[in-house]
Amino acid sequence: MPTIRQQIIDLLAEAEMTALDLSKALSVREKEVYDHLSHAARSASAQGRKLVVAPPRCLACGFTFDTRKRLTRPSRCPKCKEQRIREPVFSIQ
Ligand SMILES: [Zn+2]
Repeated sequence: MPTIRQQIIDLLAEAEMTALDLSKALSVREKEVYDHLSHAARSASAQGRKLVVAPPRCLACGFTFDTRKRLTRPSRCPKCKEQRIREPVFSIQ
């Protein structure tokens, strides 16, 4: 049985997914997915691969959170204060 970490790596190597997608695919809570993701990022780099994060983006003004270091979705846009934020999308390359 592969670890959740390895399953995340395998899933993201196949397709881009959000934390919610991963949560459904692995039957773990979305909150836990973020913990596993940061470990998966390290395992991936040990395997010569890389966790790629398409940064979250504000759906109202288009502001992109491209300097954000955390993997979680921000709650609101710093520019227009909107709360409609597109989730970050993860993949392994
Ligand atoms: Zn905005």
